[in-house]
Amino acid sequence: MLEKVEKAFDPEEFIEEFEGLTRDAGRVQNETLKKILEENQGTEYLQKWGLNGKYDPKSFAELVPIVTHKDLEPYIRRIVDGDGSPILTGKPIKSITLSSGTTQGKPKFVPFNDDLVESTMQIYKTSFSFRNREYPIRSGKALQFIYSSKQFMTSGGLPAGTATTNVYRSSQYKKTMKAMQTPYCSPDEVIFGPDFHQSLYCHLLCGLISRDDIQVVSSTFAHSIVHAFRTFEQVWEELCNDIRVGVLSSRITVPSIRTAMSKLLKPNPDLAAIIHEKCSRLSNWYGLIPALFPNAKYIYGIMTGSMEHYLIKLRHYAEDLPLLSADYGSSEGWIGANVTPNLPPELATFAVLPNIGYFEFIPLSQNLNNLSDEGSDSTFIMLEPKPVGLSEVKIGEEYEILVTNFAGLYRYRLGDVVKVMGFHNSTPNLQFVCRRNLLLTINIDKNTERDLQLSVESAAKLLAAEKIEVVDFTSRVDLTTDPGHYVIYWEISGEANDDILRECCNCLDKSFVDAGYMSARKVNAIGALELRVLRRGTFHEILENSVGMGCAVNQFKTPRCVGAGNCRVLQILSNNVVKNYFSTAY
Ligand code: AMP
Repeated sequence: MLEKVEKAFDPEEFIEEFEGLTRDAGRVQNETLKKILEENQGTEYLQKWGLNGKYDPKSFAELVPIVTHKDLEPYIRRIVDGDGSPILTGKPIKSITLSSGTTQGKPKFVPFNDDLVESTMQIYKTSFSFRNREYPIRSGKALQFIYSSKQFMTSGGLPAGTATTNVYRSSQYKKTMKAMQTPYCSPDEVIFGPDFHQSLYCHLLCGLISRDDIQVVSSTFAHSIVHAFRTFEQVWEELCNDIRVGVLSSRITVPSIRTAMSKLLKPNPDLAAIIHEKCSRLSNWYGLIPALFPNAKYIYGIMTGSMEHYLIKLRHYAEDLPLLSADYGSSEGWIGANVTPNLPPELATFAVLPNIGYFEFIPLSQNLNNLSDEGSDSTFIMLEPKPVGLSEVKIGEEYEILVTNFAGLYRYRLGDVVKVMGFHNSTPNLQFVCRRNLLLTINIDKNTERDLQLSVESAAKLLAAEKIEVVDFTSRVDLTTDPGHYVIYWEISGEANDDILRECCNCLDKSFVDAGYMSARKVNAIGALELRVLRRGTFHEILENSVGMGCAVNQFKTPRCVGAGNCRVLQILSNNVVKNYFSTAY
């Protein structure tokens, strides 16, 4: 793999390779499992389960248990503390990833190694190759809103950072971006700067300076793109001024960023005038992205799952520019590539790469009883789930996904629910459904992140008629009242009157169509849904809080359901409520 990265990258050749891998995905999966187990047979963890050279899927499933992060924590903790013996992997783990910890409100440690970098590059190149068939790009640049998180040393002296940071720091990342003819337009000092506000300002500035070269506008998750252009609305005149006079705003105080930017920034009154004129002509910033970057071919980032909410705003900024949804993975490793980029983001699927890990699927019908609102780690399996292999999944079924990877995770519950939409050759095309544990439930009701998203979408249409947006949202169950009830938090973009908000509140309540919820509401076993409106900037505060705890802005995902253990976010929410309404829908 390493050698391949050095070779000139030919997208068609890459597609051929992918087709070969997926034609006999079942066989590739078995070989991948064998390879993982052979490489790591001597580890303390696998020795404990007595595989004794049995590397077939059946023995693996019989002997090695299904685990959550909590089960592996004692092993990972020893690695973090500097125990270099073969605990989870044969080769020593040299760095650690911090997962974003959206669910629990605190990041989790996960082992990281070069195999994960390689599979990341394989995924990037696979989806790029398919994208490039539909939307070819000429040599140009990418405006990528990417930010590294703080890296620190663990107690055992291992560098730790978020997965994206570990990837950006790898030499392969830059090479891959170059090979894909879209080197990013910002200097490394901006990406690795210590203050993301300053980095964001400079990303925008770099994009504007390279305006005509920008072919792609992207970030890991769509949230960062929307956040960037919302910020642009605030700072655009200052950006124009910097370009006009060729001097960086005094808001940038980090010396390394100032030095790097001063090499790019030269007085350019013509460019400043063009940008100023383009912005002044826009109505409510509609079509901002193509106005700023006339040669951009598409906007790229993860737009599925909890990112779907930002599509409305993204479409507003993008006008007719295609929105292409990116691949599916996690800090624990990648899973699938989007090889049908022309599907709208709402329908995006991910073809599982059968050689980057070994994947098992627990049918969700078996699993519903194990759902909980408070994090997968606190629930352990009541029924013994019977996962199926990648070739045994059925179209239309939903599954919880289990990952076995090259970095020390074996039969690991990722916590995601996916739906099989079809097959690419013989590998499944998965649609992301929701996080398994983000759930509103009081008694017999069960509403997932997806149900919440749909309910908010319906109610937000009432506000949209008033030209007001739901900037962001979250929820929780309040059990301090009797009966308990759902609380939905909204940050909205303008002043809405009480009548409209009351209507929104009723609409939210009525839009949860889960039979358990509706029947419990009718008999008042669940109380009236409450809509709490938040002060502007509340979700920014939540983002800042998350970044303060080590999350990278790139990986930030607004928690859609806040568990009782996530005290800091609950505090921020409760400090910022300006109005509340109770539903009268039942
Ligand atoms: P992190 O903790 O930052 O590693 O985030 C990983 C999680 O992000 C996954 O387990 C998913 O829940 C979510 N995620 C990653 N990729 C996608 C995608 N393409 N669509 C929806 N959700 C995704």
